[in-house]
Amino acid sequence: MSFLPPQWQPSDTELADKTILVTGASDGIGRAVALACAKVGAEVLLLGRNEGKLETVYDEILRAGGREAGIIPLDLTTHDPTRYEALAEQLTAADIILDGLVHNASVLGERRLLAQTSPASWQEVIQVNVSSTFLLTRALMPLLTQATSSSIILTSSGVGRRGKAYWGAYAVSKFATEGYMQVLADELKATRHIRVNSLNPGAVNTKMRRTAYPGEQPDSNPSPEALTDHWVYLLSDASQSLQGETLSAQD
Ligand code: NDP
Repeated sequence: MSFLPPQWQPSDTELADKTILVTGASDGIGRAVALACAKVGAEVLLLGRNEGKLETVYDEILRAGGREAGIIPLDLTTHDPTRYEALAEQLTAADIILDGLVHNASVLGERRLLAQTSPASWQEVIQVNVSSTFLLTRALMPLLTQATSSSIILTSSGVGRRGKAYWGAYAVSKFATEGYMQVLADELKATRHIRVNSLNPGAVNTKMRRTAYPGEQPDSNPSPEALTDHWVYLLSDASQSLQGETLSAQD
């Protein structure tokens, strides 16, 4: 069931004065969320592995009248903690305080039985979908702590709540994402000003969905743009009561 209050829609200034970092902002849901946040006043930091695609999103934000975005080229297969710490130092030097962190980037990996999954694919999926979340949040926590109210969104999946054959490392990574969310939310509940929730987008017409379901009619699923209110709500002060929740954007 949707967690959005009935009829809730963001105001034009819903995220004014907020700085939001979105991972995997070059495509799919991350791109749509970045554009939606910028549309309601946020300064958006676009993190991804493909600088050219991030520049396209940067241009789209400017063309739509949004605040100038930041571009953060970072391949999340990187497991060196110093790369994440260097990013935090760079943002700190630019006097950035983070009001929102959307962990959205993920890879699907191999759609095979676990016993047939290659160790290289397993490693990549766990690194991009889970370990980079840990490394990035760990490095950015001082910037999130400085905000009066900040929100961390972990992107989950239906197969991260109920395992299914042939979803392999991806499903396992999403269970880990849920576990990470619960532990972090419990650690932070006493602080009251950093909230952490997981959000399952449901089936959305993106490159990942089309790859996972090649036989499906792509437009039988909603576009990423149709669902972005859920992310904006979770990033806005309107959702301050939500902490440690396992949420879904679709029924
Ligand atoms: P897409 O494949 O369309 O987009 C994934 C994004 O992650 C892209 O911006 C991609 O960059 C980026 N990315 C992938 N690998 C890396 C990396 N190594 N370093 C940095 N960035 C990387 O996926 P969706 O938009 O569909 O998925 C977004 C989130 O929603 C994911 O967490 C996914 O698991 C989740 N989800 C999606 C569902 C769906 O139906 N679409 C259903 C349930 C959950 P690039 O542009 O370079 O490829």
